[in-house]
Amino acid sequence: MKIVFHQDYVDYAGYASDPAADRGRIKPIIKEIREKTDYEIITPEPATEEDILRAHSERHLKRIKHNNNLYYIASLAAGGAIKTAEIAYDNKEAAFGVIRPPGHHASADSCWGFCFFNNMSISMLKLIADKKIETAFILDFDLHTGDGNINIIGQNPNIKILNPRSPERVGYLEEIDETFKSLKNIDIIAASAGFDEYVLDWGGTLTTEDYNTIGKMMKEYSLELCEGRRYAILEGGYYFEHLGINVVSFCKGFE
Ligand SMILES: [Zn+2]
Repeated sequence: MKIVFHQDYVDYAGYASDPAADRGRIKPIIKEIREKTDYEIITPEPATEEDILRAHSERHLKRIKHNNNLYYIASLAAGGAIKTAEIAYDNKEAAFGVIRPPGHHASADSCWGFCFFNNMSISMLKLIADKKIETAFILDFDLHTGDGNINIIGQNPNIKILNPRSPERVGYLEEIDETFKSLKNIDIIAASAGFDEYVLDWGGTLTTEDYNTIGKMMKEYSLELCEGRRYAILEGGYYFEHLGINVVSFCKGFE
């Protein structure tokens, strides 16, 4: 299992003043990964304009480019998502992108909710452009519906997205399992991995152990459906104290 991470995701925390950009957010995740796992850490490059324009309008790109710091870190997050997806596809192994800013609320021509470029769509569209995949399943287990994912990559009839809606944990996990059972002809499985559905976070539903279960389900179904090709990229998650623990719990099931 590989972790995609760039030190600038920590150091460039000042690109915005929202909770996703908080200085204390990425540090505990990468610290926990370094202390509790021996995963190899891979450093990504920023996405190119060509990569970004597969998902976004010229106008949106121009708007983000207006702020140099923001453009740099948002394109580095998108590049991190691409690198994560490529590792999963090329090596047939698990990869997790510890990236920010998140992306699932970024649509082609607009963005909100602490997101700027749609990292997930940019990564999938890169794999499609390179003729690596035609079909995919995206599990968005962030508390919030990834409207940007739905508006961009969800318009492709070969890409299926689930944002589970069950209000309690058992039903939530069952919903994921039921959806996996119904899948056929999937080239890769990905997660928009938000951790704000955690019991002590805004959503108040999932436990640390549940993140492990979700990771394990993704692993098992990816081995069945697509030779183990699976990746996840970080979206939300604001209970900083347990964010690293929850990410590692997910990774231990996913690895
Ligand atoms: Zn969220």
